[in-house]
Amino acid sequence: MSQLRAAAAAGGLRRSGGRAVPAARRSRKGASPRGGTQAPPPTPHVFSDPAEIGALRRNLLAWYDRCKRDLPWRTLAATEPDADRRAYAVWVSEIMLQQTQVATVIDYYNRWMQKWPTLQALAEASLEEVNELWAGLGYYSRGKRLQEAAKKVVSELAGRMPRTAEDLQKLLPGVGRYTAGAIASISYGQATGVVDGNVIRVLCRLRCIGADSSSPAVIDQLWDMANALVDRSRPGDFNQALMELGATVCVPKAPLCRECPVKQHCRAWRRVEKELAFASQKLFGKPTPVPDVEDCGVGGCPLCPPAMEPWDSSLGVTNFPRKAAKKQPRVARTATCVLERRGCHGAPEYLIVQRPSSGLLAGLWEFPSLPLDQDLQEEKQREALADHLRAWTGWPVVAGGLRFVGEVVHIFSHIHQTYVVYSLPLDGDVTLDPALTPSRWVTEEEFHASAVSTAMKKVLKAREKQRGEESSPGKGSKRKRATKPQGANSTRPGTQLSLRAFLRPPTSP
Ligand code: SF4
Repeated sequence: MSQLRAAAAAGGLRRSGGRAVPAARRSRKGASPRGGTQAPPPTPHVFSDPAEIGALRRNLLAWYDRCKRDLPWRTLAATEPDADRRAYAVWVSEIMLQQTQVATVIDYYNRWMQKWPTLQALAEASLEEVNELWAGLGYYSRGKRLQEAAKKVVSELAGRMPRTAEDLQKLLPGVGRYTAGAIASISYGQATGVVDGNVIRVLCRLRCIGADSSSPAVIDQLWDMANALVDRSRPGDFNQALMELGATVCVPKAPLCRECPVKQHCRAWRRVEKELAFASQKLFGKPTPVPDVEDCGVGGCPLCPPAMEPWDSSLGVTNFPRKAAKKQPRVARTATCVLERRGCHGAPEYLIVQRPSSGLLAGLWEFPSLPLDQDLQEEKQREALADHLRAWTGWPVVAGGLRFVGEVVHIFSHIHQTYVVYSLPLDGDVTLDPALTPSRWVTEEEFHASAVSTAMKKVLKAREKQRGEESSPGKGSKRKRATKPQGANSTRPGTQLSLRAFLRPPTSP
């Protein structure tokens, strides 16, 4: 049992109208904190003083009431009388906010709730519709899992959302401990804490936790702390306040400590202030006692910074939190081809294909693409892509017909992806076997309304930029054109290529 949990178990707090009441006052009813079981000694890494916990709750909530941002999911959570609708509204926001900035999410959230205001509406949607609305938000499996879970609530739970954090986590696919705690505290008022990236940062700073913040020991400690700190009468607001503090004040690089509503409870800030006072005394030649260093004094403490990486005064409070070195993303290269033709009124149309239903970017649409070996030479890349297109279309695509557009880099969470982009303008149709990969021709507008990733939008943008430069020679980029002459099949800038130039009719009748 952690010290914090032990302190809670020892009865440090009771509820009175939502306020924490110091254990000393409770002793009038007979259970003196000193008279019976010895409470574990306080350490710099826990909140063991009930009066301080009460003050922190009050300070944080008062600040939240004054300064919180108006966000659509907060409005819904505060005004929606139906518990299932309220929980659904919070759930959608929490899933969208995973790994994604608030500013990006707002528009997606509003469109989503307009289209599917209830669980039942979402359960009836197709995965294609979900992917289309999610396009550009990243981490696409989130939308898919959200819809699967909505279907489950409708078909197996009679449309009623589970009512506790424990059941939410147990019964809903894609709902982890954090999301369950957020839904239960915000929608139902369950007094349960949450731990996300913002909370990790705030709590590690408040209690000088300098061990690897992704380690199980630290994460367990932070969950204990969050559960002990959460305000019993306003758990949802308290959790949102803690996250809001991390998002707007206790930010990663330049926290606004002087404006922080809980700075008097922050051990990292206290340490900075002591060092500043020490430095100023020294400057004016006053006696300079050695600053009180607030390490916990326990050798090998699992929560202190590692001995090899002690507190660095130049970093101040940003000494915390600390993470183990990030794994380097995998480097990948993919050849991709923008197949295009003239559609109605001469506007270009593009051929897109659907990705497999599992794995990275599952079910999304993209330009025909082919993963490449790292060390493949440019000429070989082109040939490999031509072979791929030949096998896919059934037409003898010639490598020299592929026009190099450029390289587009996109960073996925764990992959550093480079797309080597080519284009192949056509003046006719290519009939594809529907039994193979699903495919379709789309206008530019349809392309952007389709379930395509941000990476593919960048690919199209690169192609459009090239076309713009071709139609306005001398304007824009000073760089040389990327297209190289390719012998008999070479392409002249600005020339729309004939299908026959690259796709010879099949030899079979
Ligand atoms: Fe974060 Fe600074 Fe506030 Fe401490 S005082 S919680 S480091 S913003």
